[in-house]
Amino acid sequence: MIQAQIQRSDWIEVNRALIEQSPHWAQLDRQYRRQRNRFLIAAFPLTIAGVSLFIGRAASTSGMYYEGAAIGLLLWAFIALATTTTNTHKLAKQNELSRVERADYSSYVGGVTVGIDPGGIDIAHESKSLRIAWRMVTIREAAGSFVFSCGADGAIIPRRAFSSPHDADAFITQARAWWQTGQLAPEEHLARYLSDRDLPCPKCRYNLRGARGTACPECATPLSVESLAGT
Ligand SMILES: [Zn+2]
Repeated sequence: MIQAQIQRSDWIEVNRALIEQSPHWAQLDRQYRRQRNRFLIAAFPLTIAGVSLFIGRAASTSGMYYEGAAIGLLLWAFIALATTTTNTHKLAKQNELSRVERADYSSYVGGVTVGIDPGGIDIAHESKSLRIAWRMVTIREAAGSFVFSCGADGAIIPRRAFSSPHDADAFITQARAWWQTGQLAPEEHLARYLSDRDLPCPKCRYNLRGARGTACPECATPLSVESLAGT
């Protein structure tokens, strides 16, 4: 069991970091840079030649072609600068970030208690509690917090909630190990779980050590690691 006090700002930091880490985010940048570079390369000779001709022809002295070329170069540099600062994807990204800042985190701030066991994770916020099987959980780390999520639900545990960095590492290592076995087929997961445990069947109290299948061999009550470990 680990307890933490979660602020709104913790969620904002975590969600910002998650967005910035996402492949989608990097993809937007790459896409924009590619488009911009192609445009600027194509515009370079056109701008210089165009402005040079425009100014050179209008003037009586031939030297004005050179001045026109220089002005064309300046114009191109200006366009390059403008396309760097008016990144349309940047606006999309700012929108995404401001949505993160405006979001309602009220159900997820305040005290939170998180417990993990071989079957899943128990999350108790002040206003809601939930238990999620490992199969449904995504574990990430962002902005100095561990993030456990299942769709829009979940919890964050800042590393500061642990008494030492070593405790935090031990916690997340254990969670990831249980998460890993939680991805096994239910039957395999249960067989592994029961291979070295003396556990009574919740209905008939039969010792389930070494049992195979997904039901009690004695009374046929359906069994799962999620239900056995969560009690
Ligand atoms: Zn039984």
